[in-house]
Order: sequence, then C-alpha cells, then structure tokens
Amino acid sequence: MFTIVTLFKNIVIHLRSGAKFLFAFIIGLAIIVFAIFLVYKPMYSVTLDGKFIGYTEDKNELQTKINKYMSEGNSDNVAFVEIETLPKYSMCLMKKNTKDKKEDIFNTVIASGVSYYKYYAVLNKGEEKYYVPTYEECEAVINSLKEKESNNIDDITYTIKYETELKEFVDTGTIVANLYVEKPKPKPQPVVVGNRVTATGSVNTSLNVNYSYANLGSVSLIQPVSGVISSRFGARSSIRSSAHTGLDIATSKGTPIAVAASGTVTFAGWKGSYGNLMVVTHADGVQTYYAHCNALYVTAGTYVEQGQIIGEVGTTGNSTGPHLHLEVRVNGVAYNPQNYLYN
Ligand SMILES: [Zn+2]
Repeated sequence: MFTIVTLFKNIVIHLRSGAKFLFAFIIGLAIIVFAIFLVYKPMYSVTLDGKFIGYTEDKNELQTKINKYMSEGNSDNVAFVEIETLPKYSMCLMKKNTKDKKEDIFNTVIASGVSYYKYYAVLNKGEEKYYVPTYEECEAVINSLKEKESNNIDDITYTIKYETELKEFVDTGTIVANLYVEKPKPKPQPVVVGNRVTATGSVNTSLNVNYSYANLGSVSLIQPVSGVISSRFGARSSIRSSAHTGLDIATSKGTPIAVAASGTVTFAGWKGSYGNLMVVTHADGVQTYYAHCNALYVTAGTYVEQGQIIGEVGTTGNSTGPHLHLEVRVNGVAYNPQNYLYN
C-alpha cells in the first residue's frame, strides 16, 4: 500500500512540475509574440513584374478594388479594362510604422491598363456617322426617323462598338436632324382622257377685251413659261374671227407651265377652242387662263402656289402648233398680258 501511495504522490508531483513548465513555456512564448507584435505587424509585400511596388495590410481590399476597376473602369462607357500583369503578394512582418501604400500600388497597377469602351455607332449606308453611349439612343434615332418618314430609313443602322478609344457622342436630336431626308413629293400625274381633260369648275369665256391698263391690286405675276411670242393680245388672224383675248407663247410640247400667281383653280378641263384650259382665280378679281395644254395636273378647287407646275404646254383645241395661250382677266374682262409680263 505504502509504495503505491508514494508512487502516486510522485506522479502527481511530476505532473505538477510538468504542467508548471508547460504553463511557464506558454506564458514565455506569449510574451515573446506580444513583444514582436508590439513592434511589428503582418503586411503584404507587393510586386509587379518582379518589381517591388509597395506594402499593404489589406490585400483583399486592394485586390477587390483592382478587380472592380478591371470590370468597370472609370467612366460609364468602359466595358472592361485589360491589365497586362497583375500584382503578386507575399506576406511579411514589417515595423509598425511602415506606411500602407495601397493607393500608390493601385495607381501603379492600373497605369498599365487599357480601357475598352462600349458604345454604339449609327451608320448611314454602312458608314459610321455618329456615336452614342447607349442602345436606347440608337433606337430613339431610328424611331424618330421612322416617325418623320425619312426617305433613307432603310439605310440607317447601328452597331455596338468595343474600342480602346472613346468617340465624341452626339445627341439624338442633332443626329435625327442631320440624317433626315425628305421623301420626294410624288410627281403630279396628268389627268388626261384621250387628249381632252374632263372639266371641273366653271369658266367665263366672254370675248370682252379692254386695251387699257388694269391695276391688279395685290397680285403680281411671273412668267408661266419662256418662249417666243407668236401672237399678241388683240390680234386677229385667219383662225380667229374676233380680237385675241390673250398672248400666245410658243414653246415645245410638254414644257411645264408654272402658275403666274397663287390662287385657286376654278376651272380645269376641255373647253372647245381653248382645248385643255386651266383658270386660276387670284385675289382682287384677277384671273389667269392657260389654254391649249397637253395635260393639266390639278383639278378645280385646288389651291396652287405661285410657280407651282399646273400643266404642260400642248396644241389642243383651236391651235396650229404647241404654245401657251395666256390670258389675264380682271372681273371677267381680258387685259393685255404684256402690261404685266413678257414686255
Ligand atoms: Zn391665243
């Protein structure tokens, strides 16, 4: 019994001294570690292409910032940034006063970066004309041109661009204004039935002429055609029993006739010896007559602007060759057109 108790006591004593030693060892180590961390801190030494560029404590924060920059760049239109070499990190213990150069490291790393910009080009017939930052702006340009029925709508396309150079952007309003092409106005179609145009409206064909000068009020006339005067106002001839109510201007068949002043067409169509006749009623009781036409482009009731093409020179009715018979009437009485034109 005694020996067993002694042995047990001895074991306890030994254990106790072993624990004491272990405890002392741990305390000692802790003091050493504490002392080390009192003077030093763990940091990352950062190298780029084998070249040291600085120390940082926040490897994760730095790398996150670099990754974010690579995926977003520094402007809205950067698609991504290509950085040739990425930094390498190795952990080390540095004195507590070692400066964290996170910002400098970041700037050094991104300095080698190449930004790829994402934007859109608006093309006309396959040629890049304008650049916009978003897809929505391309759609806005196309839709606006469609709405305005631009004649070149089929030529306008757009494409996405990934380039290392950012182009100057143009606002959609300017692009639309510059690309818009007006649709050509349809050429007026002559209303011809045989060589007789179906008449619309009414006309005064009195042979009442006046050789004096009549004031046309607010109306001023332009020459409907250019040509050679073949018969003057008041003249009598073998094919005419009374005084000539107008002025004849000979020119080739098909020559466009421009209306002498703005007004409303009050007669258009076949009228006996006049052939195909158009009468335009202007302000202040003034009317102009265009006779022997090959074709008439407008019908009675149409408002026509001065200079608008209303028909073609012909030789219909009582006529021996292509010419325009032009009359100027005031309150139904014919006056000499050469008072106002071709003089
Ligand atoms: Zn005539």
